[in-house]
Amino acid sequence: MTSKRTALITGITGQDGGHMAELLYSKGYEVYGVLRGQRNARRESLTREFPFVKIVEADLTDQTSMINAVESSQPDEIYNFAAISHVGYSFRNPQLTCDVTAKGVLNLLEAVRIVGLAEKSRIYQASTSEMFGGLDYNRPGSGYNEESLFHPRSPYGVAKLYAHWIAKNYRESYGMFVACGILFNHEGERRGLEFVTRKISDAVAGIALGQQEEVVLGDLWPKRDWGYAGDYVRGMWQMLQQGAADDYVLATGETHSIEEFLELAFAEVGIDDWHPYVKQDAAFMRPAEVDILLGDPSKAERDLGWRREVDFPGLVSLMVRHDLKLRGGDK
Ligand code: NDP
Ligand code: GDP
Repeated sequence: MTSKRTALITGITGQDGGHMAELLYSKGYEVYGVLRGQRNARRESLTREFPFVKIVEADLTDQTSMINAVESSQPDEIYNFAAISHVGYSFRNPQLTCDVTAKGVLNLLEAVRIVGLAEKSRIYQASTSEMFGGLDYNRPGSGYNEESLFHPRSPYGVAKLYAHWIAKNYRESYGMFVACGILFNHEGERRGLEFVTRKISDAVAGIALGQQEEVVLGDLWPKRDWGYAGDYVRGMWQMLQQGAADDYVLATGETHSIEEFLELAFAEVGIDDWHPYVKQDAAFMRPAEVDILLGDPSKAERDLGWRREVDFPGLVSLMVRHDLKLRGGDK
């Protein structure tokens, strides 16, 4: 009889944590989730939505608690999603971003070594396209791939770059199985309201239902390679099933502006001209902007057999329809 495989997810209350918990449970894993804080507001929804998740109380910035989390769960696989993950917030809280998003990864890697699971536990590190920076001189026409140069443009991107390299360093130094997924933006029903796609889908639902009049945004010209989170967690899981740890880009290979997202989102509720409903405010603009991100997922497609299923119009549509339902619309 083979025993159940065990996974530990940090960032279990976040978007990817939810999608991954579902995926792993459907595959028969025993799922542990790291929950931080003595009174985390998301504990109740976590236990309601994912009653199968075994909660371990720990914080990525607290080495002792991370040792206990790894010790008590004895994971075959660790998915490290915990981070200060919002670029705008990272400009306002740069040191916290460094402590969690950069040094926290070191705490996790060391915890695995200290507990003696360096050979057993396979680790997924959530790297990001924000490490590339989207600058003119650093922008390959066919999209960023695993060989592209890094030039992060925010405290978040810089912290993630440290995390990326320390993950690779532990792979090379100690032979640990640490795979880094360099993921481009991925969105969906679980996306935080602080991110532009969900802010828009939620507002469009509110406007369509007569619950709000407008939405206030920052710059509308930046372009992102937006995919669906449900597709991306499959790719992350596939990375940990390979013979050797490696780095992979997950992306759609398409890039769209915020204006294009607005166009499709408002069209979903029958509004042809979105301009009267959108205001702009410098408060939502950033000290340094990543103007365009476009990824090249060829390696993941070739080596993992990964394919995304949801396209850009499909993504916008599912998000708006979800928010209409959440706000009490019947569409
Ligand atoms: P979310 O912002 O939705 O989730 C972040 C999670 O980190 C939350 O569960 C949060 O918990 C947790 N967390 C924050 N600080 C700590 C801490 N000190 N100790 C333990 N947990 C903590 O992110 P996503 O799910 O969208 O993203 C998952 C990962 O992938 C992140 O690392 C992100 O940076 C990265 N990524 C995401 C992309 C995307 O487009 N979504 C693209 C590329 C990379 P709490 O509820 O307590 O705040
Ligand atoms: P990011 O790509 O990880 O920074 O994801 P976001 O969803 O936070 O931002 C995507 C793009 O939308 C960035 O270029 C932001 O500057 C831009 N943007 C414009 N208005 C807003 C807004 O009101 N909120 C957020 N979060 N981003 C905005």
